[in-house]
Amino acid sequence: MAEEAQATVGTSSADVEAVVVSAMVPTIKCVFISDTHSKHKDIRFDDVEEEKAGPSVLFHSGDFSLAGSFKEISDFIDWLEEAPFTYKILIAGNHDITLHEESFNASFWTRRGHPIRPDFAAVQAYVRSKPSVIYLQDEQVTLEFPTLGGQLKVYGSPWQPTFGDVWAFNAERGEAINQIWNLIPEDGEIDVLLTHGPPLNIGDFVPHKKEHVGCADLARQVKDRIKPRVHSFGHIHENYGVFAKNDGDDATLYVNASTCTLLYRAENAPIVLLLPLDKAKAPIVVNAITQQVE
Ligand SMILES: [Zn+2]
Repeated sequence: MAEEAQATVGTSSADVEAVVVSAMVPTIKCVFISDTHSKHKDIRFDDVEEEKAGPSVLFHSGDFSLAGSFKEISDFIDWLEEAPFTYKILIAGNHDITLHEESFNASFWTRRGHPIRPDFAAVQAYVRSKPSVIYLQDEQVTLEFPTLGGQLKVYGSPWQPTFGDVWAFNAERGEAINQIWNLIPEDGEIDVLLTHGPPLNIGDFVPHKKEHVGCADLARQVKDRIKPRVHSFGHIHENYGVFAKNDGDDATLYVNASTCTLLYRAENAPIVLLLPLDKAKAPIVVNAITQQVE
């Protein structure tokens, strides 16, 4: 049938193929999770696995453990290596305490005692030991998609504004945390930004405190300087969802990908976006309603 149709309009099969290919926008399936807190085996990838064709990326915005024991970390990394995605990108969160020796030594873990004194170098080596898992700690990576002729640039940072002295990667609001955000490339160089904590007023609302707890410096830098196409984070389990600012000059799509609920059950679905490799084209949200925020 296809050959007859081509014959009637006088085109060769190569011409038809070229038209079809140019009409398609090469797109990467991007799946966002966060705050899995050692419940990763409960995650349901129903929406994701229906369509396995083509390259895909799983992004995790930190807190993959409860308290960063080597067993928790290695269990998660082994699971992640097997997960059916082309690339798996991971940052740490405040619970992944053994990924930051300085935080561990300064916090209650040394006063009350972690079960075993961690081997910090072994933990760092393990999160970087699997071929398809890319761990980012204030680092950038370029993901290549040779069959589609494109790439995506991703930057990841585990920090959030200080709350108590218990956890990892706390930085004081103001100049201290702003300097960490200053390391991130600017002007849309980055396609996907991962941080553990949210920016102020976006996916950062804590109902029982009636308070937005996100980082003001991060919000300002993402909007005015970094301008990623997607910014994904977690940390505030209560405000899972997809958000867009309605002020007209912020093109970033924001994702609070917290998988665990406030009660640490892995009940929130992975959020799926289709991200065109053409930077001029906006991401398509597959399985969530985009909430407009001020
Ligand atoms: Zn968490």
